Amino acid sequence: MDQLSRAEAWEIVGGLSNPSKMPCYAWGIPAQACKVGGKLAEVEGSICHGCYALKGFYRMSNVRRAYQRRLDRFGHPRWVEAMVRLVRWQGLETGLAFFRWFDSGDLQSVRMLQTIAEVADQTPEIRHWLPTREYAVVRQYLARETPPDNLVIRISAPMVDGEPPKLGLPTSTVHQGERAEGFTCPAYSQKPARCGYCRACWDGDVENVSYPFH
Ligand code: SF4
Repeated sequence: MDQLSRAEAWEIVGGLSNPSKMPCYAWGIPAQACKVGGKLAEVEGSICHGCYALKGFYRMSNVRRAYQRRLDRFGHPRWVEAMVRLVRWQGLETGLAFFRWFDSGDLQSVRMLQTIAEVADQTPEIRHWLPTREYAVVRQYLARETPPDNLVIRISAPMVDGEPPKLGLPTSTVHQGERAEGFTCPAYSQKPARCGYCRACWDGDVENVSYPFH
């Protein structure tokens, strides 16, 4: 089979997003598809209540369509090959060896996590960060498999000012005021928020990243 061109890979995947805060490109799906997050969005005091991916820029119809297209195209027979092509391409484009999964949305299934792990496994030169609240999916995956070293699955806490979840993986929390646990995300000390030189979320040795509530 011929190697995919960048344009063919883009078409198969439905494109990548390029979040302004991040140093790299990202792949995401509609926040409306979040399973755990969809329930949490109804709970006052949860991190998903007032989710950024359900408002503002993410509600624009062209943006919504793009995220839906990425979800619809997941499962294409050449999806892994296409994502590997795009993850490598964006590394060259940005000059940085990083990739972000789920700037919007969350894991839909164990198969989705296995498939993403396959992409990470085939791109060992890139560090991948995957934040998730789908604890059951991650537990089922970990019962059978070990994530590649370059894939940081960072488990997000459900509630503002909540404890880091205990799944044996790196975590993230959201704090109000001074109650940060572990490493405090510096992105919001500037406007607009930017990662700048920080790569803590991609670093599996950073046990917990705490984001200021905003
Ligand atoms: S902790 Fe660092 S890498 Fe993570 S979002 Fe904040 S600035 Fe970006």
